[in-house]
Amino acid sequence: MLITDLHNKFLECYERSGRKFIKPVPVVANDDPDLMFIISGMVPFKKYFCGDAKAPHSRMYNAQPCIRTVDLVDVGDVKHLTYFEMLGNWSFGNVDRRGSITNAWLFLTETLRIPANRLVVTVFKGDTEKNIPPDITSIDIWRELGLRSDQIFFLGKDNFWGPAGADGPCGPCTEIHYDRLGGPLPERFPEDDTDERFMEIWNAGVFLEYHKSADGHMQSIAGPGLAAGAGLERLASVVQEVPSVYDTDEMSILLAQVRADCRLHSTGRDLSQGRKVVDHIRAISAIAAEGVKPGRDGPSHVLRRLIRRAYAVFAAHGEWDNDLSDLLHLATDQLGRRYPHLKATLYQTSITVAGEIRSFETPLRRGMDDLDELLGRQSLEVSETDLISLNGRHGLPRDIAIAVVEGRGGKVIGEDYKNVYAQHRHVSKGDQGRIK
Ligand code: ATP
Ligand code: MG
Repeated sequence: MLITDLHNKFLECYERSGRKFIKPVPVVANDDPDLMFIISGMVPFKKYFCGDAKAPHSRMYNAQPCIRTVDLVDVGDVKHLTYFEMLGNWSFGNVDRRGSITNAWLFLTETLRIPANRLVVTVFKGDTEKNIPPDITSIDIWRELGLRSDQIFFLGKDNFWGPAGADGPCGPCTEIHYDRLGGPLPERFPEDDTDERFMEIWNAGVFLEYHKSADGHMQSIAGPGLAAGAGLERLASVVQEVPSVYDTDEMSILLAQVRADCRLHSTGRDLSQGRKVVDHIRAISAIAAEGVKPGRDGPSHVLRRLIRRAYAVFAAHGEWDNDLSDLLHLATDQLGRRYPHLKATLYQTSITVAGEIRSFETPLRRGMDDLDELLGRQSLEVSETDLISLNGRHGLPRDIAIAVVEGRGGKVIGEDYKNVYAQHRHVSKGDQGRIK
């Protein structure tokens, strides 16, 4: 099943479940002073969950493009993207545990025919200190749906969501994970996020039953609600039986194009560089479509970094003349199937991206030349401090520099990157932890 068919199938099934469809909002969070981007399908509903407005319907659903810059460090692995699409369902004034869990399970096992024995779930184990009981109700529902005891795991803080700020609604959640390996299940669920056996595909319900006040006091709320969301790309990787989100139908075409353009191998650092370009191109298309221009702050700064990182991969492979327009065309054709407004802005997006690339080319060339000179002078060795300095002076991204160093048969020596970077940030106070 193609990713667009999967998206449409979700909309069709959730329409039939009696929920009300809500249109997606722009990925730039213009109306929210706390956020740059829509980081979850829940954001447009925040006002209802926080009690600032009354929800127009008690049960809704949507498909919402999201941008998560906090996940940038993980982009290039098998499951993290900066731009992804969330398939969500939301309830107000009622928790609808049974409805949300049951709909998610039936969609996976009956509509998509994912084998039930390749799915496991996690449930909140309770917190005696905060006087919050284990989520037995969810366990009972999972059991009634036919899950065996060994498929149900208890988790602590990872299955308690929120509040989003110092105070606000929060509560336990229950999540569905796909087991890539199959066979006997472990006693405990691996809490390490780099684990590659289990991939979270659906947060089947955050049960917003509590309110936490700024002093840490937790109490039940009068108007509870529910937030639930699945990642479209992760679901597609399961349905299409491919090893990563980057191998799904649309992204695999983009990846093949990047690999051909840059003559990248299909393993190691080359693989993750190619995947990063694919991710960034999609994110660039979505952000630039909102009229954002590359710049120094907020969404403009993120857009600038994404364009520069993607272009630097091409430049590092000698492709200085590529202005990313072919990839933007491809990505827009693909995303435009679900979000047609991207097609209308493609021409403007291509001009914006080409302009940013033109202004970055000269400093990037200087950075690459300086790096080459250092490698020659220092017997193919550079330090983390050298890399930070190249980034500061010319905007040469660290991971691109490392790829160049390794490509020349050199290596990065010396202190741990995080220590050096922390010291550097301490010295140059102006840096607000921006993406490198
Ligand atoms: P993870 O811990 O695996 O990064 P999460 O707990 O941050 O996921 P949620 O905030 O619960 O995820 O989001 C709901 C769903 O959205 C997840 O079950 C997943 O399918 C999808 N999702 C979340 N973050 C990403 C991402 N960076 N890339 C792709 N899909 C994502
Ligand atoms: Mg989660």
